[in-house]
Amino acid sequence: MKFQTLCSGSKGNCAILQSQHSKILIDVGLPLSTLEKGLLEFGIRPDKIDAVFVTHEHSDHVSGLEAFSKKYDKQVFVHKKGFLTLAKKSYYANHKITHFDGPFNFKDLHVDTFCCSHDSAYCCGYRFDDGNTAIATVTDLGVADSTLVDFVKGCKLVLLESNHDEQMLAKGDYPDILKRRVGGIKGHLSNTQASRLAVEMQKAGVKRLLLGHLSQNNNSPELAFYATLEQLNKNNIREGVDIIVDVVTQDKKSEVYIIE
Ligand SMILES: [Zn+2]
Ligand SMILES: [Zn+2]
Repeated sequence: MKFQTLCSGSKGNCAILQSQHSKILIDVGLPLSTLEKGLLEFGIRPDKIDAVFVTHEHSDHVSGLEAFSKKYDKQVFVHKKGFLTLAKKSYYANHKITHFDGPFNFKDLHVDTFCCSHDSAYCCGYRFDDGNTAIATVTDLGVADSTLVDFVKGCKLVLLESNHDEQMLAKGDYPDILKRRVGGIKGHLSNTQASRLAVEMQKAGVKRLLLGHLSQNNNSPELAFYATLEQLNKNNIREGVDIIVDVVTQDKKSEVYIIE
């Protein structure tokens, strides 16, 4: 499978996944023109996309969904519990929204979802398995425990949220209510939380970890990377050998990962 993030962060999220028979998007939180350009550079004509998989209805994940749906009229998948909120929000995508409740198959992909504790109608992480290998995307998590590690077991690549540096958030100028929301159990994972998960995920067989959904105000790629690196080192896990860790960002596309 091929995978790339076009953008990842609190201002917009979109990833492309291509298997032998499927070309899909995970979230469309970016302008249509940027998406079209990104897809062409990836090697997919935008009208050849098979479906969009939406994690949740927050605008950093769906801001471009309506424009994309209006022009290309593609199937949009969303979890049953988030369906109504998304349907109300995205008029043009309405008739093509398919809701699901539990694992299902889409073309050559087996799709499974993870319920994220996050303050939206419903938020899910995705796991796509083509029968040969699997890729998971799990962002917008308030808490994460061993069930998340079980969910990504067998995945070669995982996009994991590493949203904020706890100290930057505490010392920053967000109002207290927002600080509590971001750091709370319905907010976002900190670098420290992500770093602990990185250790467990490596033990569960994950070979490549992409740290993403970084806060623009309370994090930096360096802080996110070093938090995880430090935790891996403490556990005698060698970055670059036992697991490769990359940081994916808001303003730059990731590299194109080919996972076999
Ligand atoms: Zn959200
Ligand atoms: Zn988000």
